[in-house]
Amino acid sequence: MTATDHTARTTAPRRPASVTDALLDRLVARVPSTAGGTWKLTEVYTGEVLVELPQSTPADIERAFVEARRAQAEWSQWPLAKRLKVMKKAHALFVRNAQLTADLIQVESGKNRRMAIEETCDPPMVLSHYIKHAPRLLAPVKKGGPVPFLTTSTAIRQPKGVVGVIAPWNFPFATGISDAVTALIAGNAVVLKPDNKTALSPLWGIEMLEEAGLPKGLFQVVCGEGPDVGPTLIDNANYVMFTGSTATGRVIGERAGRNLIGCCLELGGKNPMVVLEDADLDEVVEGAVFGVFGNTGQICMHIERIYLPESRYDEFRDKFVARAQGLDVRAAYDFGPEMGSLVSPDHMERVRAHVEDAVAQGAIVLAGGRPRPDLGPAFFEPTILEGVTKDMLCGATETFGPVVALHRYRSVDEAVDLANDTDYGLNASVWGTDVAAAEAVARRIQAGNVNVNDILATAFASKGTPSGGVKQSGVGARHGDQGLTKYTDVQNLAVLKKQVMGPRPGQSYEEYVKGMLAGLTMMRRTRIR
Ligand code: NAD
Repeated sequence: MTATDHTARTTAPRRPASVTDALLDRLVARVPSTAGGTWKLTEVYTGEVLVELPQSTPADIERAFVEARRAQAEWSQWPLAKRLKVMKKAHALFVRNAQLTADLIQVESGKNRRMAIEETCDPPMVLSHYIKHAPRLLAPVKKGGPVPFLTTSTAIRQPKGVVGVIAPWNFPFATGISDAVTALIAGNAVVLKPDNKTALSPLWGIEMLEEAGLPKGLFQVVCGEGPDVGPTLIDNANYVMFTGSTATGRVIGERAGRNLIGCCLELGGKNPMVVLEDADLDEVVEGAVFGVFGNTGQICMHIERIYLPESRYDEFRDKFVARAQGLDVRAAYDFGPEMGSLVSPDHMERVRAHVEDAVAQGAIVLAGGRPRPDLGPAFFEPTILEGVTKDMLCGATETFGPVVALHRYRSVDEAVDLANDTDYGLNASVWGTDVAAAEAVARRIQAGNVNVNDILATAFASKGTPSGGVKQSGVGARHGDQGLTKYTDVQNLAVLKKQVMGPRPGQSYEEYVKGMLAGLTMMRRTRIR
């Protein structure tokens, strides 16, 4: 079935056999809840309630922090090699159980299986990187002190304590687990708040971590609506790692600032793709199909604006529209569909509102544009628009669905200006056969990540390089050295081996000052640091 086939009806696929009621009950039993009631967590393809998710009260959250802090006191004393041994076992379990993890990701998010299985790869990739690099990054670094030979100063990495991780629904396992394991490697405990809709896969990740040897209590989960849980979580945390929308990021940043704790904010985007004159259009079309419709357009780094030179516009448009109209869009727990559902009927309404607003203001629909209730309660067609302006909802703000606007440009300078004409700066993609020329354009784009001849995977999978947003897309970064060291405080441990400050017995203060100033000149010239 294709997205344009509106008359056909599919029967809803059967929930994967691995997702048993016993498993669901075991997972949600991890959430502390005394009097917070429950939230109905549904299977996206059918809208059926899967499980009643307990909701945590402020008192539950405070208790989770007490428990996490108690476990962290011991965990932080484990030698790093012992902590990494747990992570190596966890890596193996994450890989071994990838299909069950993908089942859980699919039931709670509605994404297609190709994306779900790709999502399972992120925590193992992050673990691989930091298992190799943590010994170097967390090792004490000894430096010279102010008086050569007599003083030393050593930078010692201390864990922050308990890190609050707040995760969104679009990559619940990747964002919930990858950020948490990095904080754990640094010697912290974690209290995670997943989105209510997608709490299952991170809870399952914690079960695997504990099977690998993670001490019980070290990794807590609290659940609830953001504004209910957020304040208590931030007020008890020593650091906050937040991934979500720019609007919520501002709320989190304000509260963390008031508490004088650090935070990393990974926020939204309105990511451009710039196609240069010499680009291979067949490759560009395939790139755009993933960039726009991958994860049903619900990737923070995905593409919502495509800029094409006048001379290549028609050819690209025709090929891209044909490809979008032929996409296999369905609800299925196998690898067939190229695109799955949006996460919820509410989110589908938001995407629909963006498209309807654009059309009402004169935009043209080249492909898609409508919900697909025949496929499931939150399906929306792969949608390509033309004539979108910045006055429209989808012209300036993030749609976060399978919707893209095509634009023409007359010169590369104009393309760069248009790509930069946004408050966001998360990701961008530049395509051209002359890679050096494409790279030169990429350097002019104001974004924390820019991919040449790729959409996002090259940047996001490069775990050795920091990945974060600029402008309104975030503060700080994950991955790279800072992705681990941000979860630590640096203690400056300074040692004076022998007291030499101040005048020696019988020396006048004037003579002492003369000697001190001569010492300053020597320090400037010497190679000793
Ligand atoms: P959201 O901001 O609504 O929610 C994100 C998380 O924050 C959820 O767990 C939510 O319950 C919680 N939350 C909401 N209000 C809160 C509050 N006042 N205090 C504490 N927590 C609160 O975002 P969303 O709609 O769930 O996710 C989609 C957004 O996330 C998109 O904008 C997307 O671009 C962004 N995102 C960014 C990245 C990145 O790495 N930059 C990655 C994935 C998603």
